[in-house]
Amino acid sequence: RGTPPDAFPPRSFRIFALTARYVADTNPKKINLGVGAYRDNNGKPWVLPVVKKASRKVEESDRDHEYLSITGLPPFTNAAQKLVFGEDSLPVKEKRIISVQTLSGTGANHLAALFMSRFYQFTKDKEIYISNPTWANHNAIISNVGLNPVSYPYYNPQTIGLDFEGFVKSIENMPEKSVILLHSCAHNPTGVDPTPEQWETLAELFVKKGHYAFFDSAYQGFATGDLDRDSSSVRLFASKRIPMLVCQSFAKNAGLYNERVGALHVVGASEDEAQRIKSQLSVLQRSEISNPPAYGACVVSLILTDPELFSEWKRDIKTMSSRIIEMRDQLYNKLQELKTPAPAGRSDWGHIKSQIGMFSFTGLNKAQCDSLVNNYSIYLTANGRISMAGLNTNNLQRFAECVDEVVR
Ligand code: PMP
Repeated sequence: RGTPPDAFPPRSFRIFALTARYVADTNPKKINLGVGAYRDNNGKPWVLPVVKKASRKVEESDRDHEYLSITGLPPFTNAAQKLVFGEDSLPVKEKRIISVQTLSGTGANHLAALFMSRFYQFTKDKEIYISNPTWANHNAIISNVGLNPVSYPYYNPQTIGLDFEGFVKSIENMPEKSVILLHSCAHNPTGVDPTPEQWETLAELFVKKGHYAFFDSAYQGFATGDLDRDSSSVRLFASKRIPMLVCQSFAKNAGLYNERVGALHVVGASEDEAQRIKSQLSVLQRSEISNPPAYGACVVSLILTDPELFSEWKRDIKTMSSRIIEMRDQLYNKLQELKTPAPAGRSDWGHIKSQIGMFSFTGLNKAQCDSLVNNYSIYLTANGRISMAGLNTNNLQRFAECVDEVVR
């Protein structure tokens, strides 16, 4: 039952240990495909031009440094809510969503899990179902608040794709009103998402079984380059009145990793219930952080509410997502050209192109990954996940050639 606590250092720390090894490596040809942060074609962090513009405006404004309210900056939380749910959303119109500013996506996941641990009427052993695999921190965040993370089938290593049958069967067999964590798009670490038709099937099952959807939205805009399309799973569930919450991060889509800008949106059954949820979330937030930080939220709220800045942001998101999609195509072509043997169970490397978002599950096994790290200074996690954003036109050929060598 549940997942045993991680050994030390926990799994969720290992990605930072990998980065430290990369930094210490003196090989000029080293490549970092570990951590999920966007890099431009020169391998450098990219400050979005729209963020530069909005930051300047925020700095030039005569804002003070008074505390924000416990639930955060209202123009930010309101605009962030509409960004995920859409202007025409049923629960938005019915004023049933409570939005609280959080310390990025991690803080949103934590506050959400804490809220569930206090107030959700669990049918069984305080279980929250998480995909196998998932973002390593989900386990830790859920366990920390005394809930039990339990895995559901998601990824099929044989096909390097979605195990939809296993996923569906598992949802059908869960007790009614189970809490299920879903990645709204660009699943981390697999890059494998359900299709729109599969989301429909999932939503119908949630309705039938009365399940609760715990959405993690860390990559809106990163999957397809289109903010609305990337939120279609959340919007579909909201339209069907499925009980749900959404953990939202602006780390990736605004490149604001260290500013910790995020929000938790909890959908109530009625406006009255939403207000009661708001009081409880305020009580929890008060004892945890009192009030969230203002700077990043000011920047994002300007971007979301100024039509010109919003259009520019959409262009910046396209720049990032298109470069990633381009790297997928180029890597696939290079591996084809080299006639690199595909991973076990696959006839080719097509999964590199069909996977979505920041990451790709390459299908490389642990020994091959270890060899890439130890013998080639190519840093990736041992499960074969690569951050596509770490590839660029300067290092892609070397990466493909090294993969070719380790798989032969
Ligand atoms: N959820 C998922 C699935 C993620 O991949 C991440 C970032 N790696 C987060 C949440 C949280 O990120 P942050 O706290 O930086 O917003």
